[in-house]
Amino acid sequence: MSKKIMLSGIQPTGSLHIGNYLGALKNWVNILDEYYGFFCIVDYHAITIEYDASQMKKKIMDAAVEYLASGLDPEKCSIFVQSDIKAHTELAWIFNSIIPVAELERMTQYKDKSKKNAENINAALLTYPSLMAADILLYHPDIVPVGEDQQQHVELTRMIVRKFNNRYGEYFKEPNTYHGRVLRILGLDGKNKMSKSLNNHIALSLTAKETEKLIMQKAMTDTNRKLKTDFGNPNICNVYSYHKIFSDEDEQKEIYEGCKNASIGCVQCKKMLAENINNELAPVRENIIKYSKDKDYVYDVLKEGAKNASETAEKTLYEVRDLMGLIDNKRI
Ligand code: SF4
Repeated sequence: MSKKIMLSGIQPTGSLHIGNYLGALKNWVNILDEYYGFFCIVDYHAITIEYDASQMKKKIMDAAVEYLASGLDPEKCSIFVQSDIKAHTELAWIFNSIIPVAELERMTQYKDKSKKNAENINAALLTYPSLMAADILLYHPDIVPVGEDQQQHVELTRMIVRKFNNRYGEYFKEPNTYHGRVLRILGLDGKNKMSKSLNNHIALSLTAKETEKLIMQKAMTDTNRKLKTDFGNPNICNVYSYHKIFSDEDEQKEIYEGCKNASIGCVQCKKMLAENINNELAPVRENIIKYSKDKDYVYDVLKEGAKNASETAEKTLYEVRDLMGLIDNKRI
């Protein structure tokens, strides 16, 4: 493989939203000519909290459809499901023998999730970073595009590399994170990160009408502006922060000034935003419909992706076990 390698993944938690699209998928698509991609649907990470097993297959399929719909070309990458490649959990076990428990316990995500899932603080929640390190290191990536919330886990992966190499000999390289042109977008509430669990998101799979309705009803404006005749402040308005991503400069200027001098109302402003978001997402949504109707094709992509990923992953695992003195060809 002559191209450099990138690896990333998203949990199959249900329909992806525009935050995932802007912060991850679009970024990945932009650099696919330069990097070969391993894109993993990380179902084993998704089971560390309570989930509905009867919905998991559908959620994995939805994630695969949305990966493809967003422009990930299977000719330029491998799209696969984490649990289909056994080497992920096997290498994670090996890394569990390297990472000090204290390092796992200080992970912010572990602390947050433990608080939110107080009745189910399971061991996998704690050892999540070992599995993430395995997800990454099996493929020897040059870059790992991740959000800021995963930065700490990548740092831990780098520490695992150093510890492994010290103990067993130089083998892994330390992966670098990649943020690209990340467009951060708050949820519709204007307070929190966009998240399905907070129900403040705009799902990629919504129709144009549903998107407009959601924005009209839920997108937070400048709360000091009660009437159309009130002067508004776009700098503290979440709707305007979306315009900065989805609208062209002329329209941004028109809204900025119109809001300040009260010549434009919030209803009109939101309608303009909905139209621009719908225009941006139209091709993705057409593709979601197309791939949803052709599940056989999506399964083929996942099978082919798993086959490709497995070749690299199995080779890495074999070399790791060999370095650790676990392989004896006379035995197996
Ligand atoms: Fe926000 Fe637009 Fe209303 Fe101004 S006009 S407060 S930018 S929604």
